[in-house]
Amino acid sequence: MHVSVVLFTSDLRLTDHPPLRAALDAADAVVPLFVRDRAVEATGFAAPNRNAFLDDCLADLDSGLRERGGRLVVRSGDLVAEVCRVVTEADADEVHMSAGHTRFATVREERLRSALEAAGRRLFVHDAVTVAVPPGTVTPASSDHFAVFTPYYRQWAQVPLRPAFGTPRRVSVPEEVGGEKVSAHGGSSEVSPALPPGGESAARGRVTAYWRRGLGAYEDTRDDLAADATSRFSPHLHFGTLSPVELVRRARRHGGPGAEAFVRQLAWRDFHRQVLAARPDAARADYRTKHDRWRTERTAAEDIEAWRTGRTGYPLIDAAMRQLRHEGWMHNRARLLTASFLAKTLYVDWRIGAAHFLHWLVDGDVANNQLNWQWMAGTGTDTRPNRVLNPVTQAKKYDPEGTYVRRWVPELAGVDAPLVHEPWKLPGLDRAALDYPDPVIELSDGLDRFRHARGKQP
Ligand SMILES: Cc1cc2nc3c(=O)[nH]c(=O)nc-3n(C[C@H](O)[C@H](O)[C@H](O)COP(=O)(O)OP(=O)(O)OC[C@H]3O[C@@H](n4cnc5c(N)ncnc54)[C@H](O)[C@@H]3O)c2cc1C
Repeated sequence: MHVSVVLFTSDLRLTDHPPLRAALDAADAVVPLFVRDRAVEATGFAAPNRNAFLDDCLADLDSGLRERGGRLVVRSGDLVAEVCRVVTEADADEVHMSAGHTRFATVREERLRSALEAAGRRLFVHDAVTVAVPPGTVTPASSDHFAVFTPYYRQWAQVPLRPAFGTPRRVSVPEEVGGEKVSAHGGSSEVSPALPPGGESAARGRVTAYWRRGLGAYEDTRDDLAADATSRFSPHLHFGTLSPVELVRRARRHGGPGAEAFVRQLAWRDFHRQVLAARPDAARADYRTKHDRWRTERTAAEDIEAWRTGRTGYPLIDAAMRQLRHEGWMHNRARLLTASFLAKTLYVDWRIGAAHFLHWLVDGDVANNQLNWQWMAGTGTDTRPNRVLNPVTQAKKYDPEGTYVRRWVPELAGVDAPLVHEPWKLPGLDRAALDYPDPVIELSDGLDRFRHARGKQP
């Protein structure tokens, strides 16, 4: 009997899964394997919200496989050692997996390839599984990657996508290979109370609902904080319970300005991946340094704590930071504002903000998080690196009624717009009655410090 192993990583789905399809085509039986990699835990990347979401994804994948006559084999340990062990137990000839684009993923892939080849087995790495257009597919004439989004997008949009595959009908798994018990997450005090459910079933439910009610209006509503009208597909794209290829194909079929704007956002995701694949150091180091002498945990402890806990005195910033903790997710406009506020208004090292986001975000993703943080800090690919977003004018624009702020900052529940965005302007007694902090900094002071640091005229 010919057996293949499918190693699931950031692709926890059965629909449109090229490694699974290739393994099924090649073999009589497959071992669908997921390894809880100790090395991921050692990096600190395995945060409680993502661990909980992962448990849901694995449980759902297992039940999807059981409906098709199979099951998911889950192991824990060193990924390379566990895969080799399973290959031996199943007497498998080959392993199929999807390509990763971080340094961690590519190093791990190479280790696995060497170990398997030493044992006379083959590793097949499939691309366009976790991205629509793999890094390196389009490049400018003079570089190995695009540093500016618009020309990237122009070429990205011309790349023919591979076909999207359906869900396999039957998966037969050799009996002799055992694994750990798989169950959905049971909740814990470290997990955000309103964390969304993980798994491909939940993801596909979201797609159906969003296609019906959200996508058409995406272009008009995506920045409306109170409407909360974006897709919320990000955790599913991070864990691969949705296929980017399938989403782009379906959105193009749907057509219209909403779908077009949505596809453009998916291209941003690929854009950051191609930057990180070419410059893996950008996960930690400035992509384009401005020689900042950032404030740090030691020199800005109180400001950082106020930002983390949603007590800066700027209602929109505080609303967003509280949403992050409560849901493990934050609206994109709010991510832009909170990141600009920390890195530019408070002039705190972007890595401190990025680490806090990575701790809480259920979609916390090295490429998207670190490179969006760099974008906002002006050390990344933004062509206007010194612009500073004003949290008050932006709040009035993107939350004109103050609904988003009042949703997350109950201390301001009785304050109407526009003063809900500037409670310090309330008449004395009304202001005194609020249990809400004064601003940690005057915006003009923050702007002066930042411009001075960047060598610009205040
Ligand atoms: C400081 C900062 C940190 C961020 N950290 C992350 C992160 O860790 N993980 C993450 O997935 N996204 C991150 N983003 C990007 C973006 O905010 C989220 O992808 C988006 O808010 C997710 O919500 P959604 O699924 O409803 O997005 P939608 O607006 O519905 O967009 C659809 C999809 O497009 C992709 N997308 C949208 N905007 C961006 C963007 N700016 N960059 C890259 N891809 C994008 C996402 O995969 C998203 O799910 C960050 C943005 C900022 C400014």
